[in-house]
Amino acid sequence: MEARRHAEVAGGGFAGLTAGIALAKAGWSVRLHEQNDELRDFGAGILLWRNAMLALEVIGVAPAIRAHGVVPDVYATSLNGEMFPPELGGYPYWAITRPKLHELLSQAARDAGVEVVTGSEAVGADPAGALLLADGTRLAADLVVGADGAGSAVRNSLPALAQERKKYQDGVCRVLVPRPAEFAGPEWNRVIDFWTLEPDAMRILFITTGPDTVYMGMMASTANERASRIPIDPEIWGERFPHLKAVVDLAAEATGGRHDAYQTNRVTPWSSGRAVVVGDAAHAMCPALGQGASVGIVNAVELAHTLGQFDDIDEALAAWEAKERAMTDAAQARSAYMAETRTLARGNGFTSEVMETANFVLDAATPAQIALYPVPEANR
Ligand SMILES: Cc1cc2nc3c(=O)[nH]c(=O)nc-3n(C[C@H](O)[C@H](O)[C@H](O)COP(=O)(O)OP(=O)(O)OC[C@H]3O[C@@H](n4cnc5c(N)ncnc54)[C@H](O)[C@@H]3O)c2cc1C
Repeated sequence: MEARRHAEVAGGGFAGLTAGIALAKAGWSVRLHEQNDELRDFGAGILLWRNAMLALEVIGVAPAIRAHGVVPDVYATSLNGEMFPPELGGYPYWAITRPKLHELLSQAARDAGVEVVTGSEAVGADPAGALLLADGTRLAADLVVGADGAGSAVRNSLPALAQERKKYQDGVCRVLVPRPAEFAGPEWNRVIDFWTLEPDAMRILFITTGPDTVYMGMMASTANERASRIPIDPEIWGERFPHLKAVVDLAAEATGGRHDAYQTNRVTPWSSGRAVVVGDAAHAMCPALGQGASVGIVNAVELAHTLGQFDDIDEALAAWEAKERAMTDAAQARSAYMAETRTLARGNGFTSEVMETANFVLDAATPAQIALYPVPEANR
């Protein structure tokens, strides 16, 4: 009998957990290292597009997401108070809180037999097949997965991986707030993208995450220091968006939120010997399309699927990158373009070309799984 293949995964975020679950379900023994003392994510929400839902369907997590998340009825955009015709009606995408998504993936990882080690910091990988930890431990593996985020120590330790980094003008404060009575009606069960561009760009992306909570992504140029602060400055946001005062005031009281400046990192190639990077470690992207985690989840599931198709791991890694690279690069480039030009402010931004990432179908998905997520004619 062939020996069971073993993977060491660095990083317990969405990409690392997904890779761990997918590999374990494909028969690998998997140990996952998270530098923090517990597996958790911060207080915000997230959109999981159809591409991510299909990948999560393959690893059996999607039913729980559908049960705990909500489908926004439309994506509506407002510029200076003027509403554009809504988009994405009937599109299969889910909004969920990040802590809930993280909890569901963590539970699924443990159920799949992934050994989770918290308080374990990776400092690098040996392409010959070993994960290197901060305490000096060297853990041999058939595959090392660097899923340790945009600042990836695993990636940075591998000289064969070239990096092109770029920073952008905008950043986003993300918070989760209790849903106030004024925003309880069905007309708020959606994504509403509120923009003002004068005297400078400020945007509130209002996303329902269910009857009890609202996720707010509050975007501004990082040059606008008051609008780039956590905790939220209720004065500067309230002046620009007076009709949203009730949620802005709650956002100011929110704890556990975060500010991130937009950045990209294009890594080429994604593997060196037996070490591979997935998620933000491989392709951190601007959040203009809300696709970073979704693409990472797709690529993590495809990684395990492709490894199952080859006896040789090197061949599998090359085949995997060849399949996923074009979609990933396109998503990264489109998100950067949309962030730079702030295209979404003008409404009707989800053109067929933009929807290519969300509509991407991974090889691992079966026809029955694909049929669960029909794409409306308007979004093909
Ligand atoms: C404003 C904003 C909005 C977004 N909205 C969306 C959205 O709606 N939909 C979507 O799909 N994507 C969205 N994204 C993108 C998404 O948040 C990221 O792509 C995703 O969280 C990346 O997941 P990851 O697991 O690759 O990395 P991370 O989330 O960074 O996780 C990395 C994990 O590794 C751990 N770690 C780091 N270093 C080490 C180490 N050396 N050793 C061990 N562990 C380590 C970290 O503690 C962390 O747990 C958004 C991003 C931003 C900035």
